[in-house]
Amino acid sequence: MEILLAKDMGFCWGVRRAIDMMEKAAQEKGEIVSLGPIVHNPQVVRELEAKGVRTASEPDDGGPLPVAVTAHGAGPEVLERAQARGAEVIDTTCPIVTRSQRWAKKMSEAGFTVIVFGDPNHREVKGVLGWAGPNSLALQDGDPVPKKLPSRLAVIAQTTQSPARFAAFVSTLVQEHVGEIGELRVVNTLCDVTSSQQAAATELAQEVDLVLVVGGRNSANTRHLLDVCREEGTAAYHVESPTEVKSEWLKGCKRVGVTAGASTPDSAVEAVVRHIQRIGAELEGAPSGS
Ligand code: SF4
Repeated sequence: MEILLAKDMGFCWGVRRAIDMMEKAAQEKGEIVSLGPIVHNPQVVRELEAKGVRTASEPDDGGPLPVAVTAHGAGPEVLERAQARGAEVIDTTCPIVTRSQRWAKKMSEAGFTVIVFGDPNHREVKGVLGWAGPNSLALQDGDPVPKKLPSRLAVIAQTTQSPARFAAFVSTLVQEHVGEIGELRVVNTLCDVTSSQQAAATELAQEVDLVLVVGGRNSANTRHLLDVCREEGTAAYHVESPTEVKSEWLKGCKRVGVTAGASTPDSAVEAVVRHIQRIGAELEGAPSGS
């Protein structure tokens, strides 16, 4: 069994930057509190906890400790709450997410109603909506567009959405609501890293019998990688750890592809690859561990 790795996968520079900033701050200050998991990956969160980065869900949870905003960013109200209780704020928001927040604010201040194409429950989207003002809304694939739309609309995207889906969303919006729209601004807030990883996953899916996508269960970009592989008609599964890989998935496979979301550390990918090698050896009747 041959194992192929995607040409682009794993930790993106935005996540590496956030982890470095948090590790450095924890080293200097003894302990800090991350507002939510730094990345959607339980292993990384556990490793950082051991280095003094605690995880909290609310800005008020950290007591007097410095509060770190993750790469996903946060809305202005979250920053205000942390500052109101006197906590130092360490902002590790990815610059690409900051750019999206700035566009949301700018469009809202210019009188546009902002639509974010993305998952309304995702932290990045919640944060961007915070900057986009009270009339903003998030819509994802399949969500009904409100019957009555304001005349001036600005559409931006969650950074990890696929370009094809964003384009399809905008196209449908225009086709179905052109009568109500007086002015439409579309701002491309997609992240190149995500597009590049999705393109590499598509290429990989075309070359193999099965793709294993490694990443945290809650990682949006990991789930999108799974979708793009399946859209190629290739069997694909999402695994968080090697123990989740089932040997029946690999039966009959000559080539197995592995890719990973932007929040997945190299160590998780390596562990899954070793596990596939073991299962492959067992299926071929060779001694395990080879
Ligand atoms: S995937 Fe892109 S937007 Fe998200 S943290 Fe990484 S570099 Fe930033």
